[in-house]
Amino acid sequence: MQSRWWSCGIRLAAWIWIWSVALLGAWCIPANEVNLLDSRSVMGDLGWVAYPKNGWEEIGEVDEDYAPIHTYQVCRVMEQNQNNWLHTNWILTEGAQRVFIELKFTLRDCNSLPGGVGTCKETFNMYYYETNGDEDEMEDGEMRDGESRYIKIDTIAADESFTELDLGDRVMKLNTEVRDLGPLNRKGFYLAFQDLGACIALVSVRVFYKRCPFLVKSLAEFPDTIPGSEASQLVEVVGRCVNNSLPLYEPPRMHCSTEGEWLVPIGKCVCQPGFEEINRSCQVCKVGFYRSLLESLACSKCPPHSVARQTGATVCSCEDGYYKIDSDPPNMACTRPPSGPRNAISNVNETSVFLEWSIPMETGGRKDVRYNILCRRVLPDGRGLEECGPNVRFLPRRSHTNYSFLLEAVNGVSELAKDHAKQYVSLNVTTNQAAPSPVSVVRKGHTGKSSIALSWAEPDRPNGIILEYEIKYFEKEQDSSYTIIKSKDTEMVVEGLKPSSVYIFQVRARTSAGYGAFSRRFEFQTSPYLTATSERAQASIVAVAITLALVLLAVVAGFLLSGRRCGYSKAKQDPEEEKMHFHNGHIKFPGVRTYIDPLTYEDPNQAVHEFTQEIDVSFISIERIIGAGEFGEVCSGPLRLPGKREIQVAIKTLKAGYTEQQRRDFLWEASIMGQFNHPNIIRLEGVVTKSKPVMIITEYMENGSLDTFLKKNDGQFTVIQLVGMLRGIASGMRYLSDMGYVHRDLAARNILVNSNLVCKVSDFGLSRVLEDDPEAAYTTRGGKIPIRWTAPEAIAYRKFTSASDVWSYGIVMWEVMSYGERPYWEMSNQDVIKAVEESYRLPGPMDCPEALYHLMMDCWQRERSNRPKFDEIVCLLDKLIRNPSSLKKLVNSSHRVSNLLVEHASVEGDSHTRSQTVGEWLDSIKMGRYTELFMEGGYSSLETVAQMTSEDLRRVGVNLAGHQKKIITSIQEMRVHMNNTNSTVNI
Ligand code: AMP
Repeated sequence: MQSRWWSCGIRLAAWIWIWSVALLGAWCIPANEVNLLDSRSVMGDLGWVAYPKNGWEEIGEVDEDYAPIHTYQVCRVMEQNQNNWLHTNWILTEGAQRVFIELKFTLRDCNSLPGGVGTCKETFNMYYYETNGDEDEMEDGEMRDGESRYIKIDTIAADESFTELDLGDRVMKLNTEVRDLGPLNRKGFYLAFQDLGACIALVSVRVFYKRCPFLVKSLAEFPDTIPGSEASQLVEVVGRCVNNSLPLYEPPRMHCSTEGEWLVPIGKCVCQPGFEEINRSCQVCKVGFYRSLLESLACSKCPPHSVARQTGATVCSCEDGYYKIDSDPPNMACTRPPSGPRNAISNVNETSVFLEWSIPMETGGRKDVRYNILCRRVLPDGRGLEECGPNVRFLPRRSHTNYSFLLEAVNGVSELAKDHAKQYVSLNVTTNQAAPSPVSVVRKGHTGKSSIALSWAEPDRPNGIILEYEIKYFEKEQDSSYTIIKSKDTEMVVEGLKPSSVYIFQVRARTSAGYGAFSRRFEFQTSPYLTATSERAQASIVAVAITLALVLLAVVAGFLLSGRRCGYSKAKQDPEEEKMHFHNGHIKFPGVRTYIDPLTYEDPNQAVHEFTQEIDVSFISIERIIGAGEFGEVCSGPLRLPGKREIQVAIKTLKAGYTEQQRRDFLWEASIMGQFNHPNIIRLEGVVTKSKPVMIITEYMENGSLDTFLKKNDGQFTVIQLVGMLRGIASGMRYLSDMGYVHRDLAARNILVNSNLVCKVSDFGLSRVLEDDPEAAYTTRGGKIPIRWTAPEAIAYRKFTSASDVWSYGIVMWEVMSYGERPYWEMSNQDVIKAVEESYRLPGPMDCPEALYHLMMDCWQRERSNRPKFDEIVCLLDKLIRNPSSLKKLVNSSHRVSNLLVEHASVEGDSHTRSQTVGEWLDSIKMGRYTELFMEGGYSSLETVAQMTSEDLRRVGVNLAGHQKKIITSIQEMRVHMNNTNSTVNI
């Protein structure tokens, strides 16, 4: 019998040899596995010890390159009381605390042995023994004694993962089994194989440990790292920033899993100022370029009137005659002082003087133009001038005092430009002069449908030289808004009027003593629209009138323009000025940047200009359509900016035929996004506004929106991966709340996911939020709000704050942990509001760690001040990631079905006592596809389903392990619930 087997054994060895070449040889070791022993790669004698000598036996074979293949066989199946040991040499652990042992072997099926089964076994045992040094080879006798020192790893049997090989008369199976061993505490160990009477050929033994291999990610280097010894332990590793780079916000970290995979990247490095990232390293900025802020990515060309003569510039220096102040942003051009003010005039009103002037022709490239006024009194009898300092008071009684004013424009750099010639405007005025008397008559000249020509006589008592007239007019009975224009002459044409409308006109004169009183009101009416015939008849008159008006206009245009410019829009503070203050604040304290609502800009284009970068459309190629936005298609393609590496971008387009309002709303999002710079906020690359279609260019997120992504990958991620995603979202939200930005529409559908599973908050805007989001519904107060995601106080009285964003974040957590389930399922919005109001909350998702569910519930505290801050959320999630065992305890299943489901039923009516069919139950856990198989298998009621085991599931045809797990978990809950309710209903 034995000799028959051995002849067969030799044939088998020959086949093994073929396998080793075909299967083993072609097999390559993953980069994260380090071999401690590989029997296939040992060239000479393996030197393993067998006891007794006639047990395990080495079969020497060579592969096609004449390299040895070490195969150990034993097949003493017909003899009683077999105890054959084979033990390896001492294997060094190299510091690994957890090692893996991969065995490839064949095991003969006892039934296939001729002459009956006898004492034949179909398993063998694997042992290990840890020591700090290589103990001398054990002799046979010692081996027997040494057995007791060995600790059993496992009993090894042939399993299903074999490769079948037809040997002609029967099928042989090559099995691969892997076992892990740890924690190991000594320097090395021995392995041993014990045969108790099986027919085994041990083809290869590979012992390896896993390590997270050296990695450069986000400009940080992570060294080769040996994982921890516990099965689910993560080792946190702080990365080292590559040369010429620095950590941004926080040192970059990664987590090394026991599987030798790097998980959950946090933080990143960026090139230090003067350098930019090219091909995963930091390259110095070229001459003429600079990079100052960590937040900007690439070196930029020096702004106008500045230069960088050396490489690696962090700032550019100004050309001669140009200057910069500390608070100027680095990308701002160098500037110079302004020219003098223009068109200065004075109005004296007894003892007060009003000075008016136009802005300088040349502002020096700055927006912070201010004016200095030097006041001097003209001393009597030509004795010169005296400064009207704060101590010099002039009594109002004093008449006819002469003053001289020097007016000068200055800006932020005037102080620095000592050599710059100042440009003053001088004005001489006399106070306490009598003002001119009122204009007594105003006459109407030619009247058109939109214009009226006016003329008037000089006042009877001008009391000086008349400098100009002021004409005030408004539509009758609408005197709350009027227009004022100025004229040097005693006539003018007022244009831009409505046809067939009555207007009120008043005129007053001004001398150096100030304005006189307005004339009384004069009422004149414009002409009606002309008909076709009367139009022809009046054509010649109109032509003459137009010529006249043109001449007149030419005369007064200059005054008109200057008058309109400097007079009546001044009451409002220049919004530019206002914003400069903000900017100064930002530049000085980049750590406390605040978000600026684009609404504060009178002209929304200005906000776009301020916060976004215009991209030339020739740098963009549109390759694919990836989605539909509210304003047009969302596409993707490469962006090739000169001097930068090509990147994939998402391109949101504004469809043709848009209104100005739509264009504004569309670009609104860009002016918000452009203010943010954070790894978990979608990054704006720029906008295209100078050509059509108008586009918003953002970084490309390969996995699209989070809700769809989760639904597509139901059950595919580890808890740590899900928590990593949540941590990213919380970190982005922390940044937004630090900036003072309230999102208002935080939901999984508004989170985008990239190829590294990094989640980024997107979808900004204010009015848009509500219009764009299909989830937004009208509330009783008329606003449109995504009810299921919104905090009660925001629904009730629109109290949107970072605390209401925290509530939404809790809902996002729930969406993530339930793989994109719809919050509150199919409940109506009204029922959701009511249930939340009555303190019902969503139940913990299936398989959700308790710690995460507690956090969700905290986010849903009614009292908003009791909700955690994003800062605290990030901190807690970090803790959980560092200590994965804290995630092991899952939400108690009875807890799951209590809370909302049970309570909610009492809100809804009686649905929880309603009988649920097997189909409905399967649908509710998204396993509806198996309904028919359940019916066919005879599981037509929930009572029978509640008795099912994993084996039953396999039998009805549920073969996927993930689905089995999901259904079994739900069945377990069903049992708990049935016991809890102790009722006869079918849950
Ligand atoms: P939105 O108008 O922002 O809601 O975008 C519509 C859809 O386009 C989203 O649901 C995404 O599927 C896709 N999308 C938008 N922005 C990006 C991006 N940056 N990367 C990838 N897909 C995007």
